[in-house]
Amino acid sequence: MDTKSINDTEEYRNSINTVDSEGKRIWLYPKKPRGPWTNARTYVSWGLLAVLFGLPWVKINGNPLIRLDIISRDFYLFGLHFTPQDFYLAVVAMLTLVVFIALFTVVFGRLFCGWVCPQTIFMEMVFRKIEYWIEGDANAQRKLAAPPWTPEKIRKKTIKQVLFVLVAVVIAHTFLSYLIGPERVFTIITSSPADNWGGFAAMVGFTGAFYFVFASLREQVCTTICPYGRLQGVLTDNDTILVTYDFVRGEPRGKLKRSKKDPVKNMQEQLAHSDVDIADTAELPLKVLGDCIDCSLCVQVCPTGIDIRDGVQLECVNCTACMDACDEVMIKIGRPERLIRYDSYNGVVKQERKIFTPRAIAYSAALLVLVVVNVLLFSNRTKVEAVILRTPGKLYYEPDETHFSNLYNYQLFNKTNEDFVPAFRFPKHPEAVIQFIGDAPVLTPETMAQGAFFIVLPKENVTDRKQTLTIELWDGDELLETTTTNFLGPI
Ligand code: SF4
Ligand code: SF4
Repeated sequence: MDTKSINDTEEYRNSINTVDSEGKRIWLYPKKPRGPWTNARTYVSWGLLAVLFGLPWVKINGNPLIRLDIISRDFYLFGLHFTPQDFYLAVVAMLTLVVFIALFTVVFGRLFCGWVCPQTIFMEMVFRKIEYWIEGDANAQRKLAAPPWTPEKIRKKTIKQVLFVLVAVVIAHTFLSYLIGPERVFTIITSSPADNWGGFAAMVGFTGAFYFVFASLREQVCTTICPYGRLQGVLTDNDTILVTYDFVRGEPRGKLKRSKKDPVKNMQEQLAHSDVDIADTAELPLKVLGDCIDCSLCVQVCPTGIDIRDGVQLECVNCTACMDACDEVMIKIGRPERLIRYDSYNGVVKQERKIFTPRAIAYSAALLVLVVVNVLLFSNRTKVEAVILRTPGKLYYEPDETHFSNLYNYQLFNKTNEDFVPAFRFPKHPEAVIQFIGDAPVLTPETMAQGAFFIVLPKENVTDRKQTLTIELWDGDELLETTTTNFLGPI
């Protein structure tokens, strides 16, 4: 994106602000943000945290609302049970999600990161708040971090780290609840580690991982690891709405000075003392300094350590902290708010704000098609899935002078928590008879029944060497599944 301000040399894109010239991490101490945007995000985060911690406990018809047991290959979504046989549904649903994310990013940039992403919510709304509470604001934290170790420093650092570990434990248990269910997590918690080594190791591993992410990795997850952040460059354009600095209004920036001098002279003096290269301003229309007073508060509050005035950067997680900081400054100096705001490049430069751009319309069309495909696939999803295959190596039998028969293996997957005793019907061959080897299958909830049977057809119905048989599985008046198989004859 061509977001150049007169100070914009693009040089800042060659390095990241959290790494020094020798490649060492620069630890960030962002100033505590405050203001209406921060308040709104705080309320949203409370709601999302309640949802995140509550969801594993919610049941629909006795089934979990959501469970993703990858190890047992057992999945529930909205109370529906999905098995590996439903993998195609997961693929189409994932594809739909990817297109939705692309569309959302084209229109609203990284809004998701600032408002919804669990990484940002836990980092900024939980761990960072604990830090502010124990160690104070940015300056106090910096002071505390400097040597030497004093009893006060040891006390504060210890309390903070203990609280971090405790929160990491809670997050790890919740995360595991999504995988194996809260009941099994409770069993692991209440039993001895010796009785449940696997579960105990998973708890410790996840706790360690979450502690490492929030106590140490922090903003590095968003600025260097998360693949979504890396996609911004290709998904956003000049119409994308992002946290944006209005460089038209803000530049040339310069320290606020009170003066009764002639405004032109005053501007020249101010420019001489600002970061602005006088040569760059030669072609500018005569203008006093812009609204940015170069107080750097927007930089000080940034949790990823960037200067939004440099232009759109993929490190920006759209957390709104700089918007609040700048609005507070603008109010204090009596200038209009929203110097940093949600806006697009075209909104800033041309006052043109478009949501339905050709790109957004194209993504919307693709999304619509995928949503329709999803609805069709989900509504046609059967309660039972049947796989009926002719037993390999066998041709046909002639059980008597008037019939042919074929031997089949069957597998029936019951995807529900209901019991079924399926009846087999042959809509195109009503004379066909099924003879089970052993007992007829009984389908208990969420299990697979398998076995073998013969299908016997009158000879006059066998009209081809290989013909297709349609088989329906019924439970009373309910059609559970329709499938096909082959029937071999001598012709
Ligand atoms: S907070 Fe506003 S006025 Fe201060 S440096 Fe940032 S953009 Fe300029
Ligand atoms: S630039 Fe502003 S919105 Fe972006 S991460 Fe920094 S403080 Fe948050």
